[in-house]
This record gives sequence, structure tokens and C-alpha cells, in this order.
Amino acid sequence: MKNENNWLKCRDMAELVTPYLEGALPVRTRLAAWYHLRLCQACRRYVGQVRATIRFLGTGPRPRAPENENEINTLLEGSQRDP
Ligand SMILES: [Zn+2]
Repeated sequence: MKNENNWLKCRDMAELVTPYLEGALPVRTRLAAWYHLRLCQACRRYVGQVRATIRFLGTGPRPRAPENENEINTLLEGSQRDP
């Protein structure tokens, strides 16, 4: 029985952590990742670290992108006013 293709390796898991946490993986891959995490403490720990990092980066106010030309001009004028 050759089932190995369905199994993720730790190396694969490292690449999938971010999309896994973002819920961006296809269902099959997500299940495989989930299953790997059940069996692999090292990857569980790694996922925990990445999750903490994402949470850390996710906090705090993000700089908002200007929505239109007027806003961009205002920003530019503001920066020019500063010597
Ligand atoms: Zn692993």
C-alpha cells in the first residue's frame, strides 16, 4: 500500500504553515497538514510560533493606503510642508 504521497513531510509543512493559518489551503491539503500536526510536535511548535508572529504583526494600526488622487496630493503637500 503506497500511501506516502498523501503524507506531508516537515519540509512541506514549513511551506504550508502560512497558508494553513490563513485558511488558504485546499481542503485536502489542509487535512493533510492538520493530520501531520497531530503527529508531529516539532511542526506544532513551529505553527504556534508562526501564529504568534502573525498575531503580533496583525496588531497595531496599519498604514492606510490613500484612496484617491486628492488624498495622495494631500499627503504629498503635507510632506512638502515639513522642512
Ligand atoms: Zn513535522
